[in-house]
Amino acid sequence: MMLAVVVRKSHDVVFSEVEMPKFISGNEVLVKTKRVGICGSDMHIYHGTNPLATYPRVIGHEVAGEVIQVGSNVSSIKVGDHVVVDPISYCGTCYACRKGRPNVCKELSVFGVHEDGGMREYFVLPDKQLHIVDPSLEWDEVVLAEPYTIGAQAVWRGGVEAGDTVLIQGCGPIGICALKLAKLHGAYVIMTDLNKERLEFALESGADKVINVSKEIVEDKVMEYTNNEGVNVVIDAVCLPSTFELGPKVASTAGIVVCLGFDEKPSQISQLPITKKELTIVGSRLQTNQFEKIINLLNGRQIQSNGLITHKFSFREIEQALKYIEQNPDRVRKVLITFE
Ligand code: MN
Repeated sequence: MMLAVVVRKSHDVVFSEVEMPKFISGNEVLVKTKRVGICGSDMHIYHGTNPLATYPRVIGHEVAGEVIQVGSNVSSIKVGDHVVVDPISYCGTCYACRKGRPNVCKELSVFGVHEDGGMREYFVLPDKQLHIVDPSLEWDEVVLAEPYTIGAQAVWRGGVEAGDTVLIQGCGPIGICALKLAKLHGAYVIMTDLNKERLEFALESGADKVINVSKEIVEDKVMEYTNNEGVNVVIDAVCLPSTFELGPKVASTAGIVVCLGFDEKPSQISQLPITKKELTIVGSRLQTNQFEKIINLLNGRQIQSNGLITHKFSFREIEQALKYIEQNPDRVRKVLITFE
């Protein structure tokens, strides 16, 4: 038997004893969980505010572990490999899949959201959803692969190139991951937040300029820092109706505004800046083919956590971890759950 963390309904999390997966067939791989990162979307499942999740659910989509057993058709992964999970499974035949965009497949299923995830001692996934990482890397580093892919996706959707100016709204983990990727692309990055400590961490993480939204007017500061051109790319990792509204205002001509939010409340955006500046407004959801790039960067030590992880709790302390995040939103960056 093994233990799994199950969110039964809003604010109701329990440990459940479940059967160990027994027969590993075909393309399946049995993995022993080592680390799981807690994400805003896990908190939404726990709070009952994730419209996409169903209950009961074993949460956890930011997952790293060690391979214990492989099915007879698995050739690319062997016992003992250190792997990270690509949480997306898709149909392969719908329009999005045919266009190479399986992250928005009509049959999309996300590990830890639509199906049971990694917050359990062992799990089984098909080999194509697992990526091997350098075993000399710390588990605490490799488990960040998934959040980095989210940042990489936003940077890719924004078409960020060397020399571009980028505004990233929000210095939470996704904002910081997007920052690191944008800097690797050679961009000049301005970041916003309400919280002084978070802004300081953004500067430590490589931001060129920061704007404190509680004291400064973002539009004025953006114009000052860009010689009145505006930013070439806006990535909104705050995801409020008002932050989305700001994008078209501060974007330069021919700029791109990247939206990551799930808020259903409408924003008021006029047509004029979009047409006049011929803006592109795009969504960015999960990730498409970003794991290979991120794993190469992790293996080459080109991206490292450097303070992104602020707290660790053991698997047995999951309820404490969720409560801590609820009560200390300004103190936590990334919280990890350890399985040893
Ligand atoms: Mn996540």
